Amino acid sequence: MRSVAVIGTGTVGSMALWRLAERGIPAVGFDAYAPGHDRGAAGGESRIFRTAYKEGPAYVPLLRQARALWEELGRSAGRRLLTPVGGVTVGPRDHPKIRAVLESARAHDLPVEVLTGNDRVPEHPLRDGEIMVVDREAGYLRPEASVVAAAAAAERAGARIAGYTPVKQVKEDADGVTVLAQDGEHRFSHVVMTPGPWARALLPGLALSTKALTSTWFPRRDESLFEPDTCPIAIRVGEPAYSCFPAVDGVGVKVNLHLPWQEIGSPDDLARSVPVAYVEQVARAVAHLVLTVPYAVRLVLAGLAGLDRAAEKAAAGLGAAPFLVFWHLTLPAVRGALIGGAFFAFITSFDDLTVALFVVTTDLQTLPVRIFNYMQYDYDPTVTAIGTLMVVFAAVAVVVIERFAVVAKLFGADQEHK
Ligand SMILES: Cc1cc2nc3c(=O)[nH]c(=O)nc-3n(C[C@H](O)[C@H](O)[C@H](O)COP(=O)(O)OP(=O)(O)OC[C@H]3O[C@@H](n4cnc5c(N)ncnc54)[C@H](O)[C@@H]3O)c2cc1C
Repeated sequence: MRSVAVIGTGTVGSMALWRLAERGIPAVGFDAYAPGHDRGAAGGESRIFRTAYKEGPAYVPLLRQARALWEELGRSAGRRLLTPVGGVTVGPRDHPKIRAVLESARAHDLPVEVLTGNDRVPEHPLRDGEIMVVDREAGYLRPEASVVAAAAAAERAGARIAGYTPVKQVKEDADGVTVLAQDGEHRFSHVVMTPGPWARALLPGLALSTKALTSTWFPRRDESLFEPDTCPIAIRVGEPAYSCFPAVDGVGVKVNLHLPWQEIGSPDDLARSVPVAYVEQVARAVAHLVLTVPYAVRLVLAGLAGLDRAAEKAAAGLGAAPFLVFWHLTLPAVRGALIGGAFFAFITSFDDLTVALFVVTTDLQTLPVRIFNYMQYDYDPTVTAIGTLMVVFAAVAVVVIERFAVVAKLFGADQEHK
């Protein structure tokens, strides 16, 4: 009798299991985690769906069939999985991928529009020589919810899901396949292998590589743009290449830059939390900033007090751009104060051993803490050498500060200095 094992109930496996169960075929889905988990390729709240395909016209019939199935799955789950906001592909008119999108549309009579102006989709302004192909059948999908919905539909139709049951090996023989899973051996007539980014481990004979694609979320600059119910998904080809569409919570924008993606061994190797070392570095930086910022601010404010604002206004009135006014008037006037502030901040930070002792770790220590420890436990000339270098550095610093007349200016002696 026919029976099918589906190895991996992620994006592809959960859908395969659903379709098998719908046809009345006994099927079991094995997964190392539970359907909808966040470690596979399906995470990140949204995925693009489109029909005018830059990958070529051959996919279009499959995509149209897939669209009907997404809608069917949404109905069976009682929630919207595909949000049909439409989609745009933006890029240079002659770009091969733009030509492929147009060819897909032409070959299958898709209802696309070609725009050359910026009015309809202000979220994605066109540059010179660019066009925008609007695909009305595109939209975005909810990946995690889709996997959960497909797994639930499969179970309702009679399939079984063995969650938290990693498969170690699949052996094929003349009568079928043996699945060696964590809970023992299982026999099936057929197997569907859908382990996604873990395929290298389960199918070592195939020359596969696994790459991590990083999604990023940004806040919206303009509240009227990137509305999740109306703004089309967008793919930009050429330079830079990326996909971009509203975050589903309506707060921000999701961007996937199409950069050379980082090769990884396995999804299990990815760092999924903020490393403690990063937190410690931030703690160290904040502790030293709290100490040093007041000194720097006082010095820069003193420098700004002597700034002639009338000269800035005169330059602006004569047509100088704000950056040129800043570069030629403001910055030279406060340069001394900025350099003095930087030196004071550095010296204060360097000198404060007590705070440094509280925020250092065994992995990363500041130089003063190292010197302190050295003086306590080691008696060799290293500390003397470091001390000499520090005296030389201090002498150079004094000369540099004096050269820029910060000290004279601060104490009101700059007239004499001039
Ligand atoms: C950031 C990002 C953005 C993307 N954007 C889009 C997009 O906009 N549009 C689009 O169409 N595609 C997009 N893709 C691609 C799409 O998401 C993936 O192609 C798809 O999710 C792959 O599905 P999968 O079933 O192969 O893998 P997965 O969904 O990861 O499923 C694999 C499953 O197999 C299980 N498994 C693995 N090994 C074993 C084992 N030994 N035993 C038991 N279970 C195992 C895992 O636990 C997992 O559940 C994107 C991908 C990423 C990463």
